Amino acid sequence: MSNLNDLIPIPSKDVMNRGLSAAKESTMLRILGKPGVLSKDCSNPGRTYAKLVKYGVDVGPFKVSGHSYAVESLLLIFQQVKQEQPDVFSTVKTGGVLCVRSRRSNPSRFSNHSWGTAIDLYFGGGVVRQGLNQTQRGVYQLFPYFNNHGWYWGAEFSGDSVDSMHFELAEETILKLGQ
Ligand SMILES: [Zn+2]
Repeated sequence: MSNLNDLIPIPSKDVMNRGLSAAKESTMLRILGKPGVLSKDCSNPGRTYAKLVKYGVDVGPFKVSGHSYAVESLLLIFQQVKQEQPDVFSTVKTGGVLCVRSRRSNPSRFSNHSWGTAIDLYFGGGVVRQGLNQTQRGVYQLFPYFNNHGWYWGAEFSGDSVDSMHFELAEETILKLGQ
Protein backbone atom coordinates (compact mmCIF):
# COMPACT_ATOMS: atom_id res chain seq x y z
CA MET A 1 0.00 0.00 0.00
CA SER A 2 1.62 3.21 -1.10
CA ASN A 3 1.04 6.50 0.63
CA LEU A 4 0.98 9.96 -0.85
CA ASN A 5 3.65 11.02 1.67
CA ASP A 6 6.08 8.25 0.62
CA LEU A 7 9.37 9.57 -0.76
CA ILE A 8 10.19 8.55 -4.33
CA PRO A 9 12.96 9.63 -6.74
CA ILE A 10 12.53 12.88 -8.65
CA PRO A 11 11.69 12.08 -12.30
CA SER A 12 14.15 12.88 -15.07
CA LYS A 13 14.28 16.44 -16.38
CA ASP A 14 12.85 15.53 -19.77
CA VAL A 15 9.43 14.58 -18.34
CA MET A 16 8.84 17.71 -16.27
CA ASN A 17 8.67 21.46 -16.89
CA ARG A 18 8.48 21.06 -20.68
CA GLY A 19 8.66 24.54 -22.21
CA LEU A 20 8.81 26.09 -18.75
CA SER A 21 11.69 27.71 -16.89
CA ALA A 22 12.17 29.08 -13.40
CA ALA A 23 11.10 32.74 -13.15
CA LYS A 24 14.16 34.99 -12.93
CA GLU A 25 14.29 37.69 -10.28
CA SER A 26 15.00 40.32 -12.96
CA THR A 27 11.82 39.31 -14.84
CA MET A 28 9.76 39.31 -11.65
CA LEU A 29 10.98 42.81 -10.73
CA ARG A 30 10.44 44.13 -14.27
CA ILE A 31 6.90 42.77 -14.71
CA LEU A 32 5.53 42.80 -11.16
CA GLY A 33 7.69 45.39 -9.39
CA LYS A 34 9.33 45.27 -5.97
CA PRO A 35 7.16 43.19 -3.61
CA GLY A 36 8.39 44.75 -0.37
CA VAL A 37 11.47 44.60 1.84
CA LEU A 38 14.17 41.94 1.30
CA SER A 39 13.86 40.42 4.78
CA LYS A 40 15.21 37.10 6.05
CA ASP A 41 11.81 35.94 7.33
CA CYS A 42 8.32 36.66 5.99
CA SER A 43 7.38 40.33 5.93
CA ASN A 44 4.29 42.08 4.61
CA PRO A 45 4.11 43.14 0.95
CA GLY A 46 4.72 46.82 0.23
CA ARG A 47 1.66 49.03 -0.13
CA THR A 48 1.84 49.14 -3.93
CA TYR A 49 2.39 45.43 -4.40
CA ALA A 50 -0.35 44.54 -1.89
CA LYS A 51 -2.91 45.81 -4.44
CA LEU A 52 -2.05 42.83 -6.68
CA VAL A 53 -2.61 40.34 -3.86
CA LYS A 54 -5.77 38.40 -3.01
CA TYR A 55 -5.96 37.44 0.65
CA GLY A 56 -7.40 34.31 2.28
CA VAL A 57 -9.00 32.74 -0.81
CA ASP A 58 -10.30 29.16 -0.52
CA VAL A 59 -8.78 27.31 -3.49
CA GLY A 60 -10.24 23.92 -2.51
CA PRO A 61 -8.01 22.04 -0.11
CA PHE A 62 -6.94 25.17 1.82
CA LYS A 63 -6.94 28.96 1.84
CA VAL A 64 -4.11 30.98 0.32
CA SER A 65 -2.98 34.57 -0.10
CA GLY A 66 -1.13 35.34 -3.30
CA HIS A 67 -0.94 37.23 -6.58
CA SER A 68 -4.44 37.36 -8.09
CA TYR A 69 -3.46 35.41 -11.22
CA ALA A 70 -1.74 32.70 -9.13
CA VAL A 71 -4.78 32.36 -6.87
CA GLU A 72 -7.15 32.01 -9.87
CA SER A 73 -4.81 29.43 -11.38
CA LEU A 74 -4.69 27.40 -8.13
CA LEU A 75 -8.49 27.35 -8.09
CA LEU A 76 -8.55 25.84 -11.60
CA ILE A 77 -5.82 23.33 -10.78
CA PHE A 78 -7.50 22.05 -7.64
CA GLN A 79 -10.94 21.85 -9.31
CA GLN A 80 -9.37 19.45 -11.80
CA VAL A 81 -7.47 17.52 -9.11
CA LYS A 82 -10.69 17.13 -7.10
CA GLN A 83 -12.36 15.42 -10.08
CA GLU A 84 -9.47 13.21 -11.09
CA GLN A 85 -7.53 12.51 -7.88
CA PRO A 86 -9.86 12.98 -4.90
CA ASP A 87 -7.43 11.30 -2.46
CA VAL A 88 -4.72 13.81 -3.42
CA PHE A 89 -7.18 16.70 -3.18
CA SER A 90 -8.39 15.72 0.28
CA THR A 91 -4.94 15.28 1.83
CA VAL A 92 -2.66 17.87 0.21
CA LYS A 93 -1.38 20.60 2.55
CA THR A 94 0.42 23.84 1.89
CA GLY A 95 3.55 25.22 3.47
CA GLY A 96 2.56 28.65 2.19
CA VAL A 97 2.28 30.94 -0.82
CA LEU A 98 2.86 34.65 -0.08
CA CYS A 99 5.93 35.43 2.04
CA VAL A 100 8.11 38.44 1.25
CA ARG A 101 11.64 37.25 2.02
CA SER A 102 15.03 36.46 0.54
CA ARG A 103 15.95 33.07 -0.89
CA ARG A 104 17.34 30.58 1.63
CA SER A 105 20.08 29.75 -0.89
CA ASN A 106 20.86 33.39 -1.82
CA PRO A 107 20.04 36.14 0.73
CA SER A 108 20.64 38.92 -1.84
CA ARG A 109 17.70 37.84 -4.03
CA PHE A 110 13.95 37.68 -3.46
CA SER A 111 12.29 34.27 -3.16
CA ASN A 112 9.46 33.98 -5.67
CA HIS A 113 7.16 33.51 -2.67
CA SER A 114 7.68 37.27 -2.19
CA TRP A 115 5.24 37.97 -5.03
CA GLY A 116 2.79 35.26 -3.99
CA THR A 117 3.45 33.37 -7.22
CA ALA A 118 4.97 30.26 -5.60
CA ILE A 119 3.44 27.54 -3.45
CA ASP A 120 4.92 24.81 -1.25
CA LEU A 121 2.98 21.54 -1.00
CA TYR A 122 3.31 18.44 1.18
CA PHE A 123 1.50 15.40 2.48
CA GLY A 124 1.46 13.89 5.96
CA GLY A 125 3.51 15.19 8.85
CA GLY A 126 6.15 17.35 7.27
CA VAL A 127 7.67 19.01 4.23
CA VAL A 128 10.53 17.63 2.13
CA ARG A 129 13.48 19.89 2.86
CA GLN A 130 15.28 21.78 0.11
CA GLY A 131 18.34 19.91 -1.16
CA LEU A 132 16.82 16.43 -0.89
CA ASN A 133 16.71 14.63 -4.24
CA GLN A 134 13.33 13.03 -3.61
CA THR A 135 9.68 13.95 -3.82
CA GLN A 136 6.56 12.85 -2.02
CA ARG A 137 4.38 10.63 -4.19
CA GLY A 138 1.44 13.02 -3.86
CA VAL A 139 3.51 15.98 -5.10
CA TYR A 140 4.70 13.82 -8.01
CA GLN A 141 1.05 13.15 -8.90
CA LEU A 142 0.34 16.89 -8.83
CA PHE A 143 3.22 18.16 -10.98
CA PRO A 144 1.53 17.58 -14.39
CA TYR A 145 -1.45 19.72 -13.33
CA PHE A 146 0.86 22.55 -12.29
CA ASN A 147 2.97 22.27 -15.46
CA ASN A 148 -0.22 22.36 -17.59
CA HIS A 149 -1.19 25.64 -15.92
CA GLY A 150 2.21 27.27 -16.44
CA TRP A 151 3.81 26.52 -13.08
CA TYR A 152 7.46 25.41 -12.91
CA TRP A 153 8.27 22.55 -10.51
CA GLY A 154 11.25 23.20 -8.19
CA ALA A 155 12.25 19.50 -8.39
CA GLU A 156 14.32 20.56 -11.41
CA PHE A 157 16.42 23.13 -9.49
CA SER A 158 20.01 21.91 -9.48
CA GLY A 159 22.22 20.79 -6.60
CA ASP A 160 21.37 22.05 -3.13
CA SER A 161 18.58 24.21 -4.55
CA VAL A 162 16.43 21.21 -5.54
CA ASP A 163 13.04 21.87 -3.92
CA SER A 164 10.41 19.25 -4.71
CA MET A 165 7.67 20.80 -2.58
CA HIS A 166 7.93 24.09 -4.50
CA PHE A 167 6.01 25.27 -7.58
CA GLU A 168 6.18 28.77 -9.04
CA LEU A 169 4.59 30.60 -11.95
CA ALA A 170 7.15 30.00 -14.69
CA GLU A 171 9.20 32.66 -16.46
CA GLU A 172 7.03 32.14 -19.57
CA THR A 173 3.81 32.66 -17.57
CA ILE A 174 5.10 35.83 -15.88
CA LEU A 175 6.14 37.23 -19.27
CA LYS A 176 2.57 36.70 -20.54
CA LEU A 177 1.22 38.60 -17.51
CA GLY A 178 3.33 41.55 -18.63
CA GLN A 179 1.83 41.69 -22.13
ZN1 LIG B 1 8.73 27.37 -2.09
